[in-house]
Amino acid sequence: LAMTLATESKEVESEKVGPSGGPILELSAVAKNFGGVQVLKGVDLRVDKSELVFLIGPSGSGKSTLLRCCNHLELPTSGHILFEGVDIAGRGVNINTVRQKIGMVFQSFNLYQHMTALQNVTLALRKVAGKPRAEADAIGMAMLDRVEMAHRAGYYPSQLSGGQQQRVAIARTLALDPKVVLFDEPTSALDPELVDGVLQVMHDLRRSGMTMLVVSHEMRFARDAADRVVFMADGNIVEQGSPDRIFTAPSHPRTKNFLASVL
Ligand code: ADP
Ligand code: MG
Repeated sequence: LAMTLATESKEVESEKVGPSGGPILELSAVAKNFGGVQVLKGVDLRVDKSELVFLIGPSGSGKSTLLRCCNHLELPTSGHILFEGVDIAGRGVNINTVRQKIGMVFQSFNLYQHMTALQNVTLALRKVAGKPRAEADAIGMAMLDRVEMAHRAGYYPSQLSGGQQQRVAIARTLALDPKVVLFDEPTSALDPELVDGVLQVMHDLRRSGMTMLVVSHEMRFARDAADRVVFMADGNIVEQGSPDRIFTAPSHPRTKNFLASVL
């Protein structure tokens, strides 16, 4: 019996994905004003290592702004963002280092049109990380392989479908070996039949233990892959919990209304 248990627990262990090892990203009282308008109103959010946190909320609730603050595309007006215990929310922080450790994937892919898939993936490796061409190309090909795009390494974005372009964009982000990847509606610009290929890559990434903060409307993906669902409205976190709990028994009326409109 003891041996059976040991074997079983080992199997569970090897399949286990999900939070482990404490916080990697900790936001406290993060506020952001644009002009006179406060779009983040003091957000507290903790993301643990290898956790997949899924962020939902109505349009305009501040989801993109929150992600952009984590990636230094915006500076919070006040509050703190600790990455591995170090505050990255202030001025005087090395932006390249932050963006290398905390990668971001956008709705609109943002690939350079005049560069091939491989050149897009290796650009930051060469210009930011300073890798020689051969090494950058080797890493780039490995990353394209990871998103099943190695066979399109020499193609330009205009020769690729939206789903393929997004997979290249994910490979580009992974090339810098980030510790956290932020996704801002990564499948929202895609034709429906191309969505699954991108979600598959995200599932694979999750299984590899990557820490992910995902804004998306793909509730099925949230049910299958998220450790925690966070609901935002009007610049605040309204409630959070396991996907099961949030989707079947939301406690706040605003969450109920939102879910009723999207599920
Ligand atoms: P979401 O991603 O949840 O739709 P956003 O973070 O994009 O929300 O936007 C939150 C609010 O902040 C919106 O009212 C939006 O118009 C405003 N906003 C976002 N970025 C800017 C900006 N650069 N300048 C002014 N207002 C902005
Ligand atoms: Mg947005």
